[in-house]
Amino acid sequence: MASVTQSETRLTIETMVKLANALGNGDLDTTRDTLVDAGFSGAEEASAASVHRVTERMVAILPLMTELPDLDVTAAARTINKHLTTLPISPAIVDHGGVGPHLHWTPAAATFDDQVLADVLMSLAHELCDNGTDRFGRCAATDCDDLFYDGTRNRSRRFCVNPRCASRTHTADHRARRRANDGGSSPKSGTP
Ligand SMILES: [Zn+2]
Ligand SMILES: [Zn+2]
Repeated sequence: MASVTQSETRLTIETMVKLANALGNGDLDTTRDTLVDAGFSGAEEASAASVHRVTERMVAILPLMTELPDLDVTAAARTINKHLTTLPISPAIVDHGGVGPHLHWTPAAATFDDQVLADVLMSLAHELCDNGTDRFGRCAATDCDDLFYDGTRNRSRRFCVNPRCASRTHTADHRARRRANDGGSSPKSGTP
């Protein structure tokens, strides 16, 4: 069974991917809801200004996020290390919220945006050390560039979390196959 740290890392990365997709698509207003949904401590009480700073700092690391599927470990590590130097990281084992002992990366007095960014970057750092960048991918559907994190055992994921991306691509594949069958050996005949 995955440890608390492993499952928290996974949850943080999936949250970060969701937020990066929203920000990449120009939706700057989902930060708080996304963090609350993921159970980030303090997300509900954080001031509008704090949440705004999280959004700004997530936008600042968006280039790193969107490039992850194409980066090798060395290149990704260089950028992550650079961002880590800007954070007041000071690890401590804490036990609250009934999840068992786990690590907090920032002191309790850290600003909300520092706390979130520290969680995000340390989760990325763990992921990089465990799996490299292999589990980060880009949606295979036409007209969708959203990122995904592939948590499947055999790394078979092709689409983002939007179920429409997978279903419309399967429909398109199916139509293409049927057209090819109808047209016999010539793929051109029967094309509208
Ligand atoms: Zn905690
Ligand atoms: Zn998609």
